[in-house]
Amino acid sequence: MHVNLTDDELAFQEEVRTFFREQYPADIRAKQDNGVQLTREDYVRWQKILHQRGWAAINWPVEYGGTGWTPVQKYLFENEIAMANAPDMVPFGVKMVAPIIYTFGSEEQKKRFLPDTLASNIWWCQGYSEPGSGSDLASLKTRADRAGDHYVINGTKTWTTLGHFADWIFCLVRTNSDVARRQEGISFVLVDMQTPGVTVRPIITIEGEREVNEVHFENVKVPVENLVGEEGKGWTYGKLLLQHERTNIAGVARSKYRLSKLREIMAQSVHGGTPLAENKNFARKLAAVEIDLQALEFTELRTLAAVAVGKAPGPESSILKIKGTEIQQALDTLFMEAAGYYALPNLPQQFTAEYPVDERTGFGSETLSALRYFNNRKASIYGGSNEIQKNIVSKHVLGL
Ligand SMILES: Cc1cc2nc3c(=O)[nH]c(=O)nc-3n(C[C@H](O)[C@H](O)[C@H](O)COP(=O)(O)OP(=O)(O)OC[C@H]3O[C@@H](n4cnc5c(N)ncnc54)[C@H](O)[C@@H]3O)c2cc1C
Repeated sequence: MHVNLTDDELAFQEEVRTFFREQYPADIRAKQDNGVQLTREDYVRWQKILHQRGWAAINWPVEYGGTGWTPVQKYLFENEIAMANAPDMVPFGVKMVAPIIYTFGSEEQKKRFLPDTLASNIWWCQGYSEPGSGSDLASLKTRADRAGDHYVINGTKTWTTLGHFADWIFCLVRTNSDVARRQEGISFVLVDMQTPGVTVRPIITIEGEREVNEVHFENVKVPVENLVGEEGKGWTYGKLLLQHERTNIAGVARSKYRLSKLREIMAQSVHGGTPLAENKNFARKLAAVEIDLQALEFTELRTLAAVAVGKAPGPESSILKIKGTEIQQALDTLFMEAAGYYALPNLPQQFTAEYPVDERTGFGSETLSALRYFNNRKASIYGGSNEIQKNIVSKHVLGL
């Protein structure tokens, strides 16, 4: 798509591009490019570099440390971070819990959590889902019983992404079971992961990595001041947070970067003696994804513009989530197709920065495509599965 940029916007784009060229650490970039898992330290180091530049929270209000950027500036920034293949801010703090804290939290909570979240001194994780409560989240059973000046929490959260790195978890918990609707009686509570009774257990995903966890709460004492907003109103806050989360999942700029990589691979690869670039069927599929991606980019820009004038992302965030993840998975499939049989070897040792390319791994990126493919089956599930998003679109967008 073509955005006609003003001179100021072009200068801004150049400033951001130069920043990524000069400040993005080469060792982290090498890991990203080679599919090596980043450590907690890698994420935090990079996020602190962004924070020092004042670019950690591009969507926050300026009064709390946001950038005050226009939608076009945000769009340009997202493009540059993706084109540099630099990690995004881990979403749970800056993008998810912080908007809830600055919108509904007490002054004390804002002071206590916002600066440290912005500076990546706190790592947050998200405690919504439970065994048996994912799509049907309102059926959640983790209880927070009031006992004087604290709550006592008991229950299990699951699929907690990077919970093993986290200092704090934001949770939806049941504070009242005696309610007419299940959505009532749910509260939004912040829990220090170091509190006695909190246990984190790994869940290993299909490609063999630790990314998600179970988090168990056994008589965990949490001070009442860690309740955000009003008791029993957690469902309302939680839903708003999910809309922020879904907008974020669309990943348009990342998909554009991956599409450009796919074009590079296409130019280099030879399948059965024929250059992949001459494979018309592959080229047609690639073009179809590219067209979908351009259309989604327009939708994302419209949403960004709405958010910029103070509107919360609405049910259209579900459209971004569905289409964005479908495109991501279509790209995964094309990477697998381009890799051919090089996608098959399982050589965990190659995902270290030092591993030399050898004949089993093609150009080096091919086996990574299988890991990505398997890992990214999650994209159409997390943040609320795509089937559920289609229900939301049919009800709230199409009015069916
Ligand atoms: C990798 C990964 C990371 C995640 N990270 C987090 C996290 O950090 N924190 C967190 O709280 N949660 C997290 N989740 C949980 C995620 O939000 C849930 O998995 C998701 O909401 C789906 O719930 P479920 O797994 O219980 O599936 P279910 O609700 O059991 O659904 C199973 C299938 O049935 C379909 N289905 C269910 N109900 C309907 C319906 N009414 N209409 C049509 N179809 C329906 C679903 O779409 C799905 O295909 C993560 C999940 C994954 C996979």
